[in-house]
Order: sequence, then C-alpha cells, then structure tokens
Amino acid sequence: SAIRQKQLFGHPVGLYILFLTEMWERFSFYGMKALLIFYLVKYHLFSDDNGNLLVGSYAALVYAMPVLGGYLADRFLGFRKAVIFGGILLVLGHIGMAFEGEAASEMADGTIVRDDGALQIFYLSLAFIIMGVGFLKANISSIVGELYEKGDKRRDSGFTIFYMGINLGSALGTILCGWLGETYGWGYGFGIAGIGMLFGLVTFIYGKKYFFGRGEAKDPALLKRKSPMGLNNELTIYVLSVLGCFVVWQMVQSHSVVEWLLMISGAVSLVYIIYYAFAKSDKIQRHRLFSLTILILFSVIFWALFEQAYTSMNLFADRVLDRGTSMFGEIQASAFLSLNAIFIILFAPVFAWLWIRLDKLKMNPNAAVKFAIGIIFAGVGFWMLVIGANGSGDGKVAMIWLVLAYMFHTWGELCLSPVGLSYVTKLSPGKIVGFMMGVWFLATAGSEYIAALLANLASLDTSGGNVTDLAAAKESYTGLFETLFHTGLIFGVILLVLSPLVKKMMHGVDTDTSEEA
Ligand code: GLN
Repeated sequence: SAIRQKQLFGHPVGLYILFLTEMWERFSFYGMKALLIFYLVKYHLFSDDNGNLLVGSYAALVYAMPVLGGYLADRFLGFRKAVIFGGILLVLGHIGMAFEGEAASEMADGTIVRDDGALQIFYLSLAFIIMGVGFLKANISSIVGELYEKGDKRRDSGFTIFYMGINLGSALGTILCGWLGETYGWGYGFGIAGIGMLFGLVTFIYGKKYFFGRGEAKDPALLKRKSPMGLNNELTIYVLSVLGCFVVWQMVQSHSVVEWLLMISGAVSLVYIIYYAFAKSDKIQRHRLFSLTILILFSVIFWALFEQAYTSMNLFADRVLDRGTSMFGEIQASAFLSLNAIFIILFAPVFAWLWIRLDKLKMNPNAAVKFAIGIIFAGVGFWMLVIGANGSGDGKVAMIWLVLAYMFHTWGELCLSPVGLSYVTKLSPGKIVGFMMGVWFLATAGSEYIAALLANLASLDTSGGNVTDLAAAKESYTGLFETLFHTGLIFGVILLVLSPLVKKMMHGVDTDTSEEA
C-alpha cells in the first residue's frame, strides 16, 4: 500500500514497537523458564525426574500452541488483536506465578507434604502462559513481515534487529529474574517477569498508530458476525481460549497426555505432508517439501540437545559447577543461561557476515550442511562439559567449560535456527507456508519433551536439590553429556552424508541465499 510509514534508523518505527514488545515478552518467558526447574526441585521438592518432565511438558505445549494461535489469527483475528489477547493472558499467567504458597516439607518417614492448592494455581498460571505464547509468538513475527512491502531489501535486516530484541530480553530476564528468584524468593523473580510482560503489552497497545493498519484482520466483518454460541466470532474465540486454558491446566499435569498429543500431531502432520506432496504438488515441489521435512526431522535432534539448558545443564550448574563470585556474591546457576542470548547478540552479526562472505566465494554450505554443523556443534558443547568434569579431580567443575558449552550450542543455533526459518519459507509450497511454520515449531515442541526424557538419564536422588555425593553427581552428568556428545556427532555425520541428496532435492532453491540472515 502507499501509506508512508514514519522511519527511524532506516526502518519503520513500528519495528521498534515490535522489538520492545517481543523483548519484554522474551524477558518474562526466559526469566521464568530459568527459574522453573529450581523452583520445582528446591521449593516444591519435586524429584529430578518429575521436575524435568514438567519443564518438558510445559515447554512442549508452549511450542505446540502457536500452530493454533497462528491459524486463528490468519483466519479470524488478524495478528495485532491476537498479540494483544496473548499479551493479556501472559500478564495474568506470569503474575499468577508470583504466588508461591507454602514450601514443601519432608516428614521424618520420608513422605513429602506439598501445598497442593498453590501447585494448582501454579499449573493454571503455566496454562495461561502456554495459551498466551500461542497467540503472541508467531503472530508478532508475522507483523514484522507485514511492515515491509514485497521485495523490500530491508526485510532481512528488520528480522535480524527483531531477533536481537528476542535475545536482549532473554539475557536481561534471565539475569534479573534468576538473581531475584534465587536470592530473594521465587515470587520476586516470577513477579518481575510479569511486570516486564505488562510493559510489553502497554508498549504494544500504545504503539498501534505506528503499524498503519498492518496486522489487522483480513475480514473484519467476519469478526462481528454471530457464532453458534450467540456471541460474535471475536468474543467467541476469546471465551473459548480462556476455557481452553482450563483444559491446558489439566494437560500440563499429565505427561502421558502431552506425549500422546505430540505423537498424534506429529503423525498427522507427516501424513498430511505426504498427502500434499503426492496429491497437490508437482515433482519439484514434492522434492522440496521432502527435503524440508528431512531438515525438520533433524532439527528435533538439535533442539533435544540444546534444550538440556533448562534441565540437566541448569542443575549441573547448580550442583557441580564452581560458580565463583561476583560483586553480588556467588554467581547464580541460572545466570549461566543468559550466555546463550549474550553469545547470540555477539555472534549473529559474525555469522551473517560469514554466510555472505562464503556466498561471494561460491562456498556457502547448503542448508543440510549447516544443519549438520549445527548438530555437531551441539554435540561438541557437551564434549566441553565432559572434558571439564573429567579434569576436575575431587573438586567442582571450572566455570569455563560451561561457558564454552553454551558458546558451541549458540554457534549451533546460529547454523540451524535462522537458516531453518528461512528455508521453511523457501521450500514450502506457497499455500502451506503457515502450516509448515507450525510444523517447524511442533518439532521444537517434540524436542522439548524428548529433552526432558534425556535429562532424566542423569536424575539424582537429592534432598531438596542438595547434592551430598559430589563425585557420584559428576559421574551421572558426565554419563549423560557423553551420550549427548556422541548423539550430536553421529546424527551430524549422518546428515552430512545425506546432504548432497537433500541439496539435490531442493532443486536450486539453495543457490538463492539472499533471504538468510
Ligand atoms: N530463541 C528463539 C526464540 O525464543 C528460538 C527458540 C526456538 O525456536 N526454539 O524466539
């Protein structure tokens, strides 16, 4: 359209509104996620197994829900309204988390008494966050896309700036919520996350004028039409989604239901892809779609390794790492999680430069090779932890090894995550790009659950998270990390071997790397 948007630093002002909104959203999301396993194990005295599984089920539902939120925004609400509704649910969810109830206590006979009422409020809060992310996460990125006209060369750098917002929020949230939560009390850490989300929501609502009508419903009349429930369609969606939170409230507490949901949605998606490939595509489209499917399947391996950060690696940092001291005292275990976001901010420009440079030399590796390198980097990250633990003698493991692990994991993320998003849009047939984007996140959802199952291989029998036998704890984590190191190497090499075939199936789409950032 011909509307002239106000510009700032060479980009539409709307971009900075979206940057700030997503920064605050990720501030709350990652701040809370950094504390989650500790809150469960130390405060509610969950076993490692149950704590890991809850983190896994929660994170799986979080990444499965944008499929639904994206669909409802496409079809009815439009992106802007979906983001506002998601933001409101997120504020409620994060504030609800601040209510911590009574700490669990262990009786003399070993039974554990928990504050079940407080735990139910906690599960309900998680459900609001899950539904909130579902409405917000994918749709806010879609508005970024709408700020630029087709063919606008600034689109990629716009997305790069937006990705910086994600990681700036993640770094700040992890450090601040983690520090408050671990030092002053869980409620403070979770509460500040909720306040951050409120800032994000207010920024977004007041920033509306800078979107110049972008992100609105495609058919506003459809929203006002009455639904079978007697309300108009818009209100119907809101009411059903709030009711849906109560369904998710139950689901998040039942790991087997989450497991079934993931398996069924994964299988249905695969069947639909195969159907689409044979019934609705020509040969080239079919090959491209299958090459994308192979990449997505391998991304499951990557995220399953990477997401150890919020379970086994977080507990490793707490229990067996020599965390040194800062001006605030001993460095909090959760603070190490911020390294991922910090390394992204440092290295994203380096990788963007590298791909362009290699491209000029006609040496830019194809997506399958980048994915393979990403998976190998994830493995190598765990190798660092194995080396560190093996060299630590009777003492705790030196910090540098965890720092290196996160550095390799972040390099892996930069080879795989932005590249993957870009290839989803390049390799999907036009009509199912949105669906395939959903499948991309569904793969992350599956990985989150698998990550929890893997983390359970190193579960320790602790009392409130306190480890008494350091040597045994180190051995347990080293065993897991060694397995993950090998897993990364093996699957990375398999994909390297397959990569010429995958590249061939892309039919030249790969030579056009202009959309990567
Ligand atoms: N860290 C990125 C984000 O929060 C990507 C997460 C993912 O795709 N698993 O947006």
